[in-house]
Amino acid sequence: MKIRAGVLIKSDASAPYLTSRPLEILELDLEGPAEGELLIRIRAAGVCHSDLSVVNGTRPRPLPMALGHECAGVVLESRADDVNVGDHVVLTFVPRCSSCSACMSGRPALCKEAKRANGAGELLRGGHRLSRDGVPINHHLGVSAFADHAVVDRGSVVVVPKDIPFDVAALFGCAVLTGAGAIFNTARVQPGQTVAVWGLGGVGMAAVMAAGAAGAGEVIAIDPDAGKRELALQVGATTALPPEGFTRELFPDGVDVAIEAVGSSKVLATAFESTTPGGMTVSVGLPHPTELMSISPLQLVAESRTLAGSYLGSADPERDIPIMIDLWRAGRLPVEKLRSRDVPLDDINLAMDELAAGRVIRQLIIFD
Ligand SMILES: [Zn+2]
Ligand SMILES: [Zn+2]
Repeated sequence: MKIRAGVLIKSDASAPYLTSRPLEILELDLEGPAEGELLIRIRAAGVCHSDLSVVNGTRPRPLPMALGHECAGVVLESRADDVNVGDHVVLTFVPRCSSCSACMSGRPALCKEAKRANGAGELLRGGHRLSRDGVPINHHLGVSAFADHAVVDRGSVVVVPKDIPFDVAALFGCAVLTGAGAIFNTARVQPGQTVAVWGLGGVGMAAVMAAGAAGAGEVIAIDPDAGKRELALQVGATTALPPEGFTRELFPDGVDVAIEAVGSSKVLATAFESTTPGGMTVSVGLPHPTELMSISPLQLVAESRTLAGSYLGSADPERDIPIMIDLWRAGRLPVEKLRSRDVPLDDINLAMDELAAGRVIRQLIIFD
């Protein structure tokens, strides 16, 4: 079948993206699903910083690539036993093979087959289902969400209840799973703990919500944008500060959990410095691969501090998305507040501009 998709032909570090228009909306050929795969009609897709990172070359990926990795939709064709036509699904950006050592040990976010496939721009079982004039187009993280339809592996989806609006459901696949997963799975925040979150994009804002839901005593939200700080206060933060406003004088005891959702090694070092003895720093943002950081290893040992990385919120999506949906239903994870505005697919470069400028949290492309 023919689909319309946002395709990155070559990465471009120069802003503004609107004038360089790195993403082209192209008509592509989409092959039908192979055994174990699904054809999805995409209904809502979020524009995430990781998409921007491919556009500006921070996350090098094989090109040309049909971008987008956070979305929800309806199953149109199923070649998997346990997914039916008409099911509503949330897509996640790490498919699970269910048989590698990571999947078998309950850590599907580290699936080895997924790492290979995602790095190669292929689907989990290998190869491409997207092409243009016979030339293969790479899949973004097994999803390629900036398109009206996608063929994905069964391991890329979680079936969700049909009453959840698609524009809310989509956000569970990346922003919520990553941000809330960092709080629930990686840091395992306990009631009464102090949590600080640097960077209030979709992931950071979801971490703020989840910290509140986990019963944190104090939740400090840090971002240069005043509008985002204001929103953070509405969704669970007890204090909101610009980066220069966070000082050790304000928090002399340090924080129990520091979440870095900016993607900067400098901010990560600041976050680590902010923790109390016994505290944990969680790196969630994606720094440029060449960045290095400098910390005192003695603080790790002598003060039993932890420095942890969290990819896909260290989550098991099949287990965690339903739990997070229940928290959303209970009003404890107000995910819909992450939605800044809707953009048509044709304005995808404008959406990238807005994201790069730090003016928005989540923009959604809605496919009717
Ligand atoms: Zn994302
Ligand atoms: Zn696996």
